[in-house]
Amino acid sequence: MHEWALAEAIVEYVKKALREANGEYVERLSIVLGKLQSIDREVLGFALREILRMENICVKELVFRDEDVELLCRRCGYRWVLDLDSFDEWVREAIHFVPEVVHSYIKCPQCGSHDFEVVRGRGVGIGEIIVK
Ligand code: ZN
Repeated sequence: MHEWALAEAIVEYVKKALREANGEYVERLSIVLGKLQSIDREVLGFALREILRMENICVKELVFRDEDVELLCRRCGYRWVLDLDSFDEWVREAIHFVPEVVHSYIKCPQCGSHDFEVVRGRGVGIGEIIVK
């Protein structure tokens, strides 16, 4: 259900972009999915295509791009990219369903602190939209 609300928001954005550019169709739409979120891309892709079809909007190319998770330590200021593949599957699954648990499993590689913030890779956004 999450995915459908998100798809609707993306379609609203697409409609606005088409209006503003006075365009006829969308050549390419790329959606950025942070690796630290629990969106099902299959469901999102399906929801998007359904809503676009109902709205009569043509999107020639719809692509999804993963965004790495970048963390910033609040204690020492170290920034690093999280390698999710280095975790056991059950940890990855836990992080996938409850992104907040990332704080229990991960610590700053520099100072060992669990006090860090997620700079990138949490949300969903529009990477690129080309209107024709
Ligand atoms: Zn640190």
